[in-house]
Amino acid sequence: MHSEIEILLCPRCGTEISHTIRHNGFKAASTSIGPPILKCPSCETFSLTGQKEWDQQNSLQKIWFWLSRLLWLIVGSFVICGGAAGVLKMLALHQGWITSQQSIPFAITCYVIGTVLLSAVVIRNSLTEINDSIVRSQSDESRAMWTAANPLPNFQESDSKVE
Ligand SMILES: [Zn+2]
Repeated sequence: MHSEIEILLCPRCGTEISHTIRHNGFKAASTSIGPPILKCPSCETFSLTGQKEWDQQNSLQKIWFWLSRLLWLIVGSFVICGGAAGVLKMLALHQGWITSQQSIPFAITCYVIGTVLLSAVVIRNSLTEINDSIVRSQSDESRAMWTAANPLPNFQESDSKVE
């Protein structure tokens, strides 16, 4: 697990337009939801961010979003909850709170509780992210920006079936 910062610079003047902090090693599991266009605060050039708002993602991308969160959760539960359960078990044994026969059920209980808590946090954060994105898509500011940016990026991907 590590954090990395992705910085988007203005192609014209080099001003930092946005930065995204990714808190985990999986690039795929980290967020891909965000405004597709951002305006440079100093020269007002529009830049494509490579991201899409939730509303603009197709079903496959939406499924992938949840699938990647699930994969992250599985790995995260082994690393975080498994590690914490192991440490707690050693501590409890050392302190004499549990006997060695109780140590395995104790560790499993810690692991399950930890995984439930972690799942709740991940699901809650993902839903917040989607909701924030929908609110952003519906704001006048982003609509105005999409209209102002010319040429507009192609929001409907399967739009090229003109005979
Ligand atoms: Zn600029």
